[in-house]
Amino acid sequence: MILIVDDKTENIFSLRTLLESKKFHVDTALSGEEALKKVLKNNYALIILDVQMPGMDGFEVAETLSGYSKTKDIPVIFLSAINTDKKFITKGYESGGIDYITKPVDPDILLLKVRTFYRLYEQTLSLNEAQQRLQSEIETRKQAQEELKNQVEHLHSILESLPQIAFTSDIHGEITFVNQNWFRYSLSSSRFPEIPAEDKHILEHFLCNCATLTQPVENEIRIKEIETGTFRHHLLRIMPIVEEGIVRNWIGTFTDIEDQKQMESKKDEFLSIASHELKTPLTGIKAYIQLLERSSNISSESKTHTYISRAKDEVLKLESLISDLLDISKIENGKLKINKVEMDMEKTINHAIETIGYTHASNIIIERQGELFEHPIFADALRIEQVLINFLTNAIKYSPNTDKVLVKTAIKDNNAYIAVQDFGIGIPLEKQKYIFSKFYRVEESSLKFQGLGIGLYICAEIINQHRGSFGIHSNIGEGTTIYFTIPLN
Ligand code: ADP
Repeated sequence: MILIVDDKTENIFSLRTLLESKKFHVDTALSGEEALKKVLKNNYALIILDVQMPGMDGFEVAETLSGYSKTKDIPVIFLSAINTDKKFITKGYESGGIDYITKPVDPDILLLKVRTFYRLYEQTLSLNEAQQRLQSEIETRKQAQEELKNQVEHLHSILESLPQIAFTSDIHGEITFVNQNWFRYSLSSSRFPEIPAEDKHILEHFLCNCATLTQPVENEIRIKEIETGTFRHHLLRIMPIVEEGIVRNWIGTFTDIEDQKQMESKKDEFLSIASHELKTPLTGIKAYIQLLERSSNISSESKTHTYISRAKDEVLKLESLISDLLDISKIENGKLKINKVEMDMEKTINHAIETIGYTHASNIIIERQGELFEHPIFADALRIEQVLINFLTNAIKYSPNTDKVLVKTAIKDNNAYIAVQDFGIGIPLEKQKYIFSKFYRVEESSLKFQGLGIGLYICAEIINQHRGSFGIHSNIGEGTTIYFTIPLN
């Protein structure tokens, strides 16, 4: 908007008409005082100021305008009757645009000057806006940087308080921070601790791929303690720090698990020795029971006969427990070997069902459903039977007061699929993923049903060695289906 300041209404009228005809918005003031009031209230792009006015003249108005930050940049065109000295006019009004026009006003010259000042005003406005935007951008960035710095410091103090060794690295694997514990294993904050040759691939895998990896890395690794010079087992976990879907950094910890490892190996050693030692007397007991059975003339109706057959059942249970314990120690030592040959899966399934029939005095009927396996499969028949017997034993054990267990078979994607379904107590959803773990037993049922929690762990190992898969579907109170698949060829 343009403000015209003149004490003569006829002058104002003619100027206003001229400017409005060229689509300029116009405001007017009849005195210097009125002009000042308006200028403080509204925003003007240009002021056309008559020099000779009663009261405050045009120069005084201009001088006052130059004193306010709001108005000091508004360009002014003076209208004067005489050719006024320009230097005098600009006194105290240096920053704004200044020009003058002598009366009588030549409309063409006035319009030319108005247009120039107007453009100048618009340019100044947009320049100011851009500067403000830039300024606020700088502020925002400064703030973000400050926040980031605080966050990093916060993270470092957290890492410093951890009992573990902790570090951060950039996406190229360059170490960017280490906590004090680091220096028990490395003399330099830029070098990883010493790792034995057999474990080196673990860290190398991370370092070579960290620019593209998106998932956490978790692995057991040994690192050398400087003081003792010994390698200690650690759990290495490296997590990506993701911002806006992109991995920005990595944060890693080494947790000392050496004591745990030693305890575990002592326990495995104990299990291995104990199960071997138990096996010898058990073989003796088995032989004596057989002798007893053969040597005496005991009628099959007699109590002695019942006792002998119960003793045989108990020995069988003990034998299977001991062989499970032996399997566990074999798995630990990597010695659980499977012997894959062409086998008849149908025969194995039927044999397992029969064995369960002999050894489990229950009313449950085992029903077979699904496709038959007509062609030989490359697998270890004894171990597959062991898996089936395990699944079936569980199906019966965890299904009191039911009368049916199903063995369902199918051929899926070139795999033999075998499932055992019961209608028993079921397993809570959140615990299902653990049942194939070593020594895991579902707490709710562990008191009521006997077991060691190792059967399914051994099954998982056997299936893995066949390059197969396994899984479970279960609903509390409705029953459980545990299945495995192994490749047909
Ligand atoms: P366990 O000797 O305890 O039976 P397993 O390794 O065979 O050990 O099974 C692990 C756990 O999984 C069991 O303790 C039991 O809680 C649960 N489980 C396995 N099979 C079934 C099933 N068919 N129904 C309900 N729970 C089951």
